[in-house]
Amino acid sequence: MSRVYNFSAGPAVLPEEVLREAAAEMMDYRGSGMSVMEMSHRSKVYQGIIEKAEADLRELMGIPDNYRVLFLQGGASQQFAMIPMNLMKNRVADYIITGQWAKKAWKEASLYGKANAVASSEDKTFSYIPDCSDLPIDPDADYVYICENNTIYGTKFKTLPNTKGKPLVADVSSCFLSEPADVSKYGLIYGGVQKNIGPAGVVIAIIREDLITEDVLPGTPTMLRYKIHDDAKSLYNTPPAYGIYICGKVFEWLKKQGGLEAMKEYNEKKAKLLYDFLDESKLFSGTVRREDRSLMNVPFVTGSDELDAKFVAEAKACGLENLKGHRSVGGMRASIYNAMPIEGVEKLVEFMRQFEAANR
Ligand SMILES: *Cc1c(COP(=O)(O)O)cnc(C)c1O
Repeated sequence: MSRVYNFSAGPAVLPEEVLREAAAEMMDYRGSGMSVMEMSHRSKVYQGIIEKAEADLRELMGIPDNYRVLFLQGGASQQFAMIPMNLMKNRVADYIITGQWAKKAWKEASLYGKANAVASSEDKTFSYIPDCSDLPIDPDADYVYICENNTIYGTKFKTLPNTKGKPLVADVSSCFLSEPADVSKYGLIYGGVQKNIGPAGVVIAIIREDLITEDVLPGTPTMLRYKIHDDAKSLYNTPPAYGIYICGKVFEWLKKQGGLEAMKEYNEKKAKLLYDFLDESKLFSGTVRREDRSLMNVPFVTGSDELDAKFVAEAKACGLENLKGHRSVGGMRASIYNAMPIEGVEKLVEFMRQFEAANR
C-alpha cells in the first residue's frame, strides 16, 4: 500500500487511523455481524453511533445547550436555499461576499427575498476580507451571512463581522474544527464535512434553538425544514448513516489529538512552514493579504501558467497530489486540513525549494 500526500480541497485527506479503524470494522461492526453500511438507521447499534457522534462534537466545540446539532444531506450548497427558506421571516438578509461560495449563497437567497450584498472583496479577486466593523446592516435583516473560510481564495475571517445584533450565519465548510470557535456568537454554523471532517454526503448544521420554527417561507419542502430534522433528531428519513459514522470517528480522533486548541496549534505550525517559505521565495508568491490568510487553504503562483503546470505535474510525480488551483483562479493551492500531517507540508516545501532552484 502506498499513500500520497493529498492536498485536495475536498473531498480531502482523512486521518489514516480513522481509515484503518473503519477498514477493520467493515465486515462486522463490533459483533453486530454486519457493516455500518448495512445497518438499520433505527437500530440500537446505530442509535449509539449517532448519539456518540453528536456528544463528541458538542464536547469538542463546547456547543451550548440551546443549540441543536443536525446531520443533514444535500451538501453545503443545499443550505444556500435552506437558510433563507427557514430564516428569512422578513424576507431580508445581508450577505458579505468574500468569494464564489458566498456569492452563490447570496444569489440563491435572492430567489426568496431581498438579499443585500453589504460588503465584497471582489474588486481584488477576493484576496482579502473586507472591514466588517460597521456595515450598513438592514434594520429588517433576518440574519447576516458569511463564508468564514474561503476555500478557493484562501482567506479567513479573523474577526467576526459586527452584525449589530442580527444572527450570524456562517458557512464553515473548509475550517470546521480547525480551531476553537465560540458557538454562542453565531445563530447558525454549518458546513459540508468533506473538507475537514469526513466523507462527502453529510452536512452538519449547528443552530440556535429559537431560530428553529415552523414559520418558514410558504412552499418550503418538508425535507428542507430545520424543525422536521430537529424534531426527529436527524432521523426523519434515512440519514447519510455511514458518513456520520466516519465523522464520529474523526471526532474521537480529534479528542485524542488534544481537541481544538491542540489542532489550532498544529495547523498554525503547518501553515507557517508554507507561508514563511512563500514570503522568502523569489519564484513563488502567496496571493492573499497577509492578515487574512487561511490556515487551511494556501493558494500560490509562480507568475507563469507554464511553470505552474510544470510544478503541478512534477509535484504529482513526487507523491504530492492535487496541488492545482481551483479552475476559476488557476495557479496552485495546497489544502492542509486537520488530517494533513506536518510531514506532508515539510515535503511540499522541500519540493518547492528544489523546483525553485531548478527553474530560476
Ligand atoms: C466546498 C464548499 C461548498 C460546497 O459544498 P458542497 O457540499 O459541494 O455543496 C460550500 N462552501 C464552502 C466554503 C466550500 O468549501
